[in-house]
Amino acid sequence: MDRYKKQRMRMVETQIRARSISDTRVLKVMETVPRHLFVDEGLIDQAYNDNPLPIGEHQTISQPYIVALMTEALELKGRERVLEIGTGSGYQTAILAKLADRVFSIERVASLATRARKILDRLNCYNVAIRVGDGSYGWREEAPFDAIIITAATPQIPSFLAEQLAPGGRFVVPVGSRDVQTLYKLTRSADNPSEMKKEDLGGVRFVSLIGESGWKS
Ligand code: SAH
Repeated sequence: MDRYKKQRMRMVETQIRARSISDTRVLKVMETVPRHLFVDEGLIDQAYNDNPLPIGEHQTISQPYIVALMTEALELKGRERVLEIGTGSGYQTAILAKLADRVFSIERVASLATRARKILDRLNCYNVAIRVGDGSYGWREEAPFDAIIITAATPQIPSFLAEQLAPGGRFVVPVGSRDVQTLYKLTRSADNPSEMKKEDLGGVRFVSLIGESGWKS
C-alpha cells in the first residue's frame, strides 16, 4: 500500500476537483502517479502541496493544479502522439504517458533528462522518448502531433512547434514576460488547417524557455 495515496487523493479533491477540473481520466491518473518520486528527498513531505517546488538546475516541478489544467486542455483520449517541451522532473511527462499513446519530450538540461528517464522507467512509462536539446525546433521526424505542451515561459508562440501540430490538434503554451505569462490553448481547425482558435486559460508563472524561441540565457 502506497503511503502517499491519501495525500494524493486529498490533493486531487482539494486542489484540482475543487477548481473545476472535471476530465475523469485526468483526475484518475493524478490520483495514481506518485508525485513524491519526482521531487528531491528533502522535499518529499511537500510533494503534494499546492505549489511548485525546486528540482535543481534553477528549475521547478509545476504546481499540481497547473499540471491538471494543462493536461485537461490537451483533451487526451488515449490514442494521441504528444510533444512536450521542458521534461524537467518528468512528472507532467508521466501523466501524459498514462493518458496518450506516445510522448516525445525534449529537455535542455541533460542531468534533468537523465533523472526523469530513470523515474519514468521505474513507473513503466516505456511509451516516452526523451531528447536533450533546444525544444524550440520541436521534433520534426516525429511530427505531426495531436497535442503539444510547453512547460516553460516563452515570449512568443514558437512557429516551428505550431507547424508540427496536426489538424484538429491542441497546443498549450504559457506566453508572456519572464515574470508572468498567460496560458493559451491553440486549436488547429480540422476542416481548415490554416485556422487556429486561441483561448486564454488564465495567468501563470513558469520558468523561462531558454533557446531559439525563448530567452538567450
Ligand atoms: N513539466 C516540468 C517543468 C519543468 S520547468 C515539471 O513539472 O517538472 C521547465 C523545464 O523546461 C526545465 O527543466 C528547463 O530546463 C526546460 N527548458 C527550458 N528551455 C528549454 C528548451 N528550449 N528546450 C527544452 N527544455 C527547456
